[in-house]
Amino acid sequence: MKDENGETMPTILVTNDDGVYSPGLLALKQQLEQIAEVIVLAPERNWSATSHSKTMHKPLRVQPVVLADGSAAHSSSGSPTDCVALAVGGVLGKKPDLVVSGINLGHNLGIDVTYSGTVACAMEAVIKGVPGIAVSSGSAEQSIADLHTIQAQTAAVACEVALQVLQRGLPHRTLLNINTPVTDPKEWRGVHSTRMGQRDYPSDELIERRDPYGRPYYWLGGGLPLDALDDGTDVGAVANGYVSVTPIMLDLTHHGFLAELATWELAKVGIAG
Ligand code: MN
Repeated sequence: MKDENGETMPTILVTNDDGVYSPGLLALKQQLEQIAEVIVLAPERNWSATSHSKTMHKPLRVQPVVLADGSAAHSSSGSPTDCVALAVGGVLGKKPDLVVSGINLGHNLGIDVTYSGTVACAMEAVIKGVPGIAVSSGSAEQSIADLHTIQAQTAAVACEVALQVLQRGLPHRTLLNINTPVTDPKEWRGVHSTRMGQRDYPSDELIERRDPYGRPYYWLGGGLPLDALDDGTDVGAVANGYVSVTPIMLDLTHHGFLAELATWELAKVGIAG
């Protein structure tokens, strides 16, 4: 597709983990259409907190769907990661130059990144050699009107970041994780580049109940996060009214610990004789 100046527009895949009909996806799609040809392929159901799951033992379906604004999109029976792999593989006929995932309903801050299907979409993109951006904001407790306002402004932020990524690229196997405050966007104080902060879920409890046959079943989670609001972190920035943009790399090695680990007496562990 060409823009009004006859320039070829980039292709952006918009996907998510909340499901193809999530309002956050639509807000992102509508905003990114100002800078790109947007293709949409997202899961047919909510896959939140499924991280980087990949379907390997059953076939996947891709279906045309119509979004709430009447526009055409596609859904898949697969995971968020599957959606990215399918689109980058060319299932929609065009391969994306950039993958933008979201807008997730709820932040992905600190350790959330390791559970997030939203972030996993950007991970899958960068593994496949396509730059990836994850975008999250809002909460399910907010009014539809407040959420709509936040999602519109979050989409605008994501669009500006997307433009920069298209122009500048990103380092090898690196994605950007964007979170915006849940306050009125008029009160947002700016954008901070951040590192992953400290977020814990100390009030998560194991709840045991009984089914109608007397057998136990369990609920996990549901507790509120406890955040360390340190300067320079994603949790700190968002709590203080800033948009956070965190560069995340897929190399999880603790490089600073390698030298000490080498001094452990591991050399002969498990070696016979
Ligand atoms: Mn989600």
